[in-house]
Amino acid sequence: MNSDLHFSRSGGWIEVICGVMFSGKSEELIRRVRRAIIARRKVQVFKSHLDERYAGIYHISSHDGRTVQAVPVDTPEQIARGLEPDTQVVAIDEAQFLDPSVVALATSLADRGIRVIVAGTDTDFRGEPFGAMPQLLAVAEVVDKLHAICVRCGNPASRNQRLIGGRPARYDSPTIMVGSAETYEARCRSCHSVPRRDEEQLVMPAVATMST
Ligand code: ADP
Ligand code: ZN
Repeated sequence: MNSDLHFSRSGGWIEVICGVMFSGKSEELIRRVRRAIIARRKVQVFKSHLDERYAGIYHISSHDGRTVQAVPVDTPEQIARGLEPDTQVVAIDEAQFLDPSVVALATSLADRGIRVIVAGTDTDFRGEPFGAMPQLLAVAEVVDKLHAICVRCGNPASRNQRLIGGRPARYDSPTIMVGSAETYEARCRSCHSVPRRDEEQLVMPAVATMST
């Protein structure tokens, strides 16, 4: 994994862990933070809690008993205000929910010599770039893209399938549905389904033609 590269002689840097839901981004972020704690770095962890379902705020402990709490935030500005002067590693989870100023924040932290670890879902339920993730991927020194397992066919999953009432959500449903009843599955490209209004209209006559 790229994370084991060391840039420590060259000051700060940005590393991004991206991929679909259930691909293990949080697990990987926690692993990296735990190792930074073992290395006796001063670490701070922040997590966007825009969507209540992702609010599972965790703490990370190392075997020597040192613990870091993930701090819930709504905005990159709250991260900037919460930073302590001697922090050497900043980890940000669920970064796709943060506003675009997270790119400038990550850049300025790295410029100041801080290792910045960002985890986030890089594509939304449509399979399109999500929030500031594309910009973060572009400015990062190191990028890891993780995959889950497609619940339909068992191949590597690269898409978030949104289901509403058990049916694929339409393309024009909102990117973030806070506190609603939809669920998600990890799927591969060919099992991923995002019906569009125009596709539904196109499909109808075709079906009608076939049945006559
Ligand atoms: P992420 O932060 O990317 O959403 P997490 O680190 O929270 O992922 O969770 C990863 C864990 O989710 C895996 O270790 C596995 O136990 C579990 N999991 C549930 N569904 C799947 C799936 N379809 N593919 C892979 N892992 C899954
Ligand atoms: Zn599949």
